[in-house]
Amino acid sequence: MASLKPVRGTQDVLPDESRRMRRVEQTALDVAERYGYGEISTPIFESTDVFSRTLGDTSDIVTKEMYTFEDKGGERITLRPEGTAGVARAVISGGLQQDLPLKFFYRGPMFRYERPQKGRRRQFSQVGVELIGASKPLADIEIIALGRQFLDELGVGENVTLEINTLGDDESRATYRTRLVDYLQSFDGELSDDSRERLTRNPLRILDSKDEGDRKVIKDAPRLQDFLNDDSRRFFDDVLEGLGNLGIPFELNSRLVRGLDYYCHTAFEFTTQDLGAQGTVLAGGRYDGLFEQMGGQATPGIGWAAGVERLALLMDGEIPPPRPVAVIPIGEEAEAKALEITQSLRRAGIATDLGYSGNMKRRMKRADKIKARWAVILGEDELARGGAALRDMDSGEQIELSFDTLADYLSGKV
Ligand code: ATP
Ligand code: MG
Repeated sequence: MASLKPVRGTQDVLPDESRRMRRVEQTALDVAERYGYGEISTPIFESTDVFSRTLGDTSDIVTKEMYTFEDKGGERITLRPEGTAGVARAVISGGLQQDLPLKFFYRGPMFRYERPQKGRRRQFSQVGVELIGASKPLADIEIIALGRQFLDELGVGENVTLEINTLGDDESRATYRTRLVDYLQSFDGELSDDSRERLTRNPLRILDSKDEGDRKVIKDAPRLQDFLNDDSRRFFDDVLEGLGNLGIPFELNSRLVRGLDYYCHTAFEFTTQDLGAQGTVLAGGRYDGLFEQMGGQATPGIGWAAGVERLALLMDGEIPPPRPVAVIPIGEEAEAKALEITQSLRRAGIATDLGYSGNMKRRMKRADKIKARWAVILGEDELARGGAALRDMDSGEQIELSFDTLADYLSGKV
């Protein structure tokens, strides 16, 4: 028999959790729109090329985490592991580069074959923004400010820290890479297998290693900051000064890197202590080399992505659904009338619940359970008078109203 469990690392999202995730997405979209970003939806799957070319053969995502398959037409397809590559592909294939800068917001599921744990799933959701065609530090400052404001408005601002670093330009990074590899090679024996392998293919990524042995070696490694050329230094200083002017606090973290070649200059993360090992809730950086790498014309870009589930975990308290009006008919005649009244309230914009069966006691119980704010009780006597009893479920007070005044009376009260 087929397994009826969800596939490992996936989950069913029930209404309570859905409301939290929707709050995360809605807040992100609201803030992004205020900054002039419009929503873009790219397909959930793309040709495998789109990701293998942009994320590079050495990234963890491409080497270990992609969900790739051949479709019935023999095409290599990958479920998107992240949003930026698809957006860049859309910009190139849609010829949108004519009209820079482009400001996009996106949201939706991503797929990575990872070891599932708290805050780490194989299907998860992200919200993200991309600012394409802006090369100045002002863009970096704005996109970080947008992230900060989103987290503040979500109510998790107090729980997160902005960590920031620079990867410099190509020249600075090349100089640094040579020095870093020299240094790391002298500790060859102490590095983890993963890191030893990265030594030739993707050495900067070693700085980000979580392996204890690696971390000891990294502690005294040369730092990229010391190899920045003047342009890169100035770029970073401008970004930090801009953040300072906006009152956005940050911590410098020289180990914060993005391993791929097309990343440059600003790299940043908002992290929290409250989620255990999965502490990064929002991560981003500048990717000026991406479009060329994809085969498009050179176009600078910067963006970030945030994990919706992690942010939903971080949010305080429940988000209750709207408290409805419960319509409670007593007797057969009333039952026929109940749906009519229910529908007229719903059409008036009032959340209304109609129990499908049971005596008065059972229906009142259900009204309590769904935390109804009001109960409209349709008894025989009231019905004969063309009205209903309206009970305030919090105070217990009850009044009688005619059918045609019910909706008006309840509007604005629920
Ligand atoms: P990590 O170091 O946690 O694996 P990452 O560098 O792979 O993160 P990004 O690719 O920068 O993450 O994705 C941005 C954000 O998306 C992360 O900061 C995190 O909040 C979220 N995220 C990434 N992978 C997962 C996952 N498997 N499950 C849930 N959320 C995730
Ligand atoms: Mg990861």
